[in-house]
Amino acid sequence: MNRTTWKSPLAVSAAAALSLAAAISTLHAQAAGDPQKEVDAAYAKFKGLKEGKNADYIPALAKVDPNLFGIALVTVDGKVYTAGDLKTEVSIQSISKVFTMAQVIQEQGLDAIEKRIGVDATGARFNSIIAVEAVKTVVGTGAPEMNPLVNPGAISATSMVTGSSADAVWNKIIGFHNDAAGRQLSVLQDVYKSESDTNQRNQAIGALMLAYGYIKSNWQQAVDLYTRQCSIGVNAKDLATMAATLAASGKNPVTGKQVMDAAKVPGVLAVMATAGLYDDSGKWLYHTGLPAKSGVGGGIIAVSPGKFGIAVISPPLDDAGNSVRAQRAIADISNALGGNPYAPKRTN
Ligand code: GLN
Repeated sequence: MNRTTWKSPLAVSAAAALSLAAAISTLHAQAAGDPQKEVDAAYAKFKGLKEGKNADYIPALAKVDPNLFGIALVTVDGKVYTAGDLKTEVSIQSISKVFTMAQVIQEQGLDAIEKRIGVDATGARFNSIIAVEAVKTVVGTGAPEMNPLVNPGAISATSMVTGSSADAVWNKIIGFHNDAAGRQLSVLQDVYKSESDTNQRNQAIGALMLAYGYIKSNWQQAVDLYTRQCSIGVNAKDLATMAATLAASGKNPVTGKQVMDAAKVPGVLAVMATAGLYDDSGKWLYHTGLPAKSGVGGGIIAVSPGKFGIAVISPPLDDAGNSVRAQRAIADISNALGGNPYAPKRTN
């Protein structure tokens, strides 16, 4: 008998019991509670909630129906649970910042983002110019105290995507978004035009980021491509699939495509946890434990690593620029399903 493979019957049954226990606990981890029941319950509970207000500094966003409400949850094994409006597309807005950052990390490594932009909270609004002025450099590392999920860092991250022309850069950006969503996405032209006509503040930020050396050249192209990426149209299921791709270590659980290296995903999730809901990120993490990202189009994605991605679309926002109903619905659903990675493991 081969010594290396022989095990005593006792050891074999102990090993079998252990792997059975592991299998059961994985099952429990993924199936704690009934996702469809929780998604339906949150939809019913928050359908009538009228708090918040559509973003209006981009004129096209003020015209979106504030009653639009869609919820989708996609598990790491590709099961999809939904409620409400799944067809209507809104502009992805700042949720795109996650995937452009991820694209840069995938191609250039985790250090590239940390060194050029930083991975620290600014504690300021997403389009703060004071935050640009206040940015400090961490002594010894040379890393600035900023992050790719606020506008200055995001415009800089977009400028880092390599390509010989604006089209080549754009194809990479949209390609990464398509792979994470599992379908061909397109730009909502009315939003792109509306934001391009009114984005003087982001242009000022782009120019400052060039002046301060975060953007190396052609800040106008970076601002334009950033504006385009923010105008990509998505529905709730697209967003949940993108979140689930991060939950499943970079593999889109619906299409099976490995979109980014598993080893690089935790860095992406860490920045989301730090800054995904801007200056309310701490409060959000306190209540849910979930890395998440909001957009002024009304979407929020959240990731329960190894379990599921979830997304809600509902345009009215709170003062920090985060969808009111999306925050409430995601927190309820995730907490009911044991989604908080910091919480003790559920056994039922
Ligand atoms: N495109 C928007 C902007 O640059 C994105 C902001 C957001 O979603 N928070 O202002």
